Amino acid sequence: MKALVKKAHGVGQVELLEVPRPQVGPRDVLLRVAACGICGTDLLIVEDKVDIYRPPVILGHNVAGVVAEVGPEVSGVAPGERAAVDMNVGACGHCAYCLSGREYLCAGRKGLGYGIDGGMAEYLALDERFVVKVPDGVSLAEAAAMDFCNAVHSVVDRTGGVAGKSVVIYGPGFQGLSMLQVARLEGAGPVVMVGRRRHAERLQLAKRLGADFAVASDEQDVGELVRDLTDGLGADVALETTGAPSALNEAIHTVRKGGTIAMLGSLPADALVDMHTVVYSEITLSPVRGYNAANVAYFVEALRLGKIDLQPFIKSFPLEEWEQAFAERQERRVIEPLLVPRA
Ligand SMILES: [Zn+2]
Ligand SMILES: [Zn+2]
Repeated sequence: MKALVKKAHGVGQVELLEVPRPQVGPRDVLLRVAACGICGTDLLIVEDKVDIYRPPVILGHNVAGVVAEVGPEVSGVAPGERAAVDMNVGACGHCAYCLSGREYLCAGRKGLGYGIDGGMAEYLALDERFVVKVPDGVSLAEAAAMDFCNAVHSVVDRTGGVAGKSVVIYGPGFQGLSMLQVARLEGAGPVVMVGRRRHAERLQLAKRLGADFAVASDEQDVGELVRDLTDGLGADVALETTGAPSALNEAIHTVRKGGTIAMLGSLPADALVDMHTVVYSEITLSPVRGYNAANVAYFVEALRLGKIDLQPFIKSFPLEEWEQAFAERQERRVIEPLLVPRA
């Protein structure tokens, strides 16, 4: 089968190769991949800017497809069914992390698409426990955007809840725009999306998706706007997706005393952060590193009910045109490109 492989450490080192179809173990499901999304982490792996991958490895952790074959011990899934993939493949299911809804921290988790072979290929074999059925009426293209579950986890589990609360979101990318939709669904308000002037188009999209305000922080004083909206107090909750220390510091100065900041952005180790204000204003910093099975169920149900809209995010490319797809994400022309193997 064809697969997009990171062949070795270093910049680039990615090639579409002919590789053997994966072996199907007794408890495995073989998916014929319908779509695999390209996320920011995939770009970082291609550019060798993260140290999490173990080459040679097939990339891709945002996967959906159709069940082609099942192992003899599989009972809950049958060939022909449509499914997406919970990327916590390998999580043991019985350690303290798994039992507390943080299976993404489990030592057994293998790192789909960087520690073990992922979904940028014609087929993917994985343990039945991580196969998520996709209901009728939900497209596999939308279901493949599984990183949406990170936004669910950030907003629902890592903020103390946002219903009736003022929320400021930093970064109108895939995660920020996804969080916006979850915050709306959860009854947050007002919701402010913060980007930069160069994000004008995505700030427009944020307004279409329900942001009360979508502003460029290099054009407008976000702190002032938010204080005006909150009786001078500042926002209840900030959601940081950019990983830029400057954005985190802006968030620290935009939330109220006792406010909460969920941090999904990948900050550098030497980030200069205003911990003085964090301490003196009793701000809760709430890091986010993954999603859990409940977040996956939330995502699939929200899609089924038509409560979220991923159509503005996604654009399909044949697997052979992976370079073009990666470039369009890198250059921010497409929010979530999907690689589609030839049927
Ligand atoms: Zn991702
Ligand atoms: Zn575990």
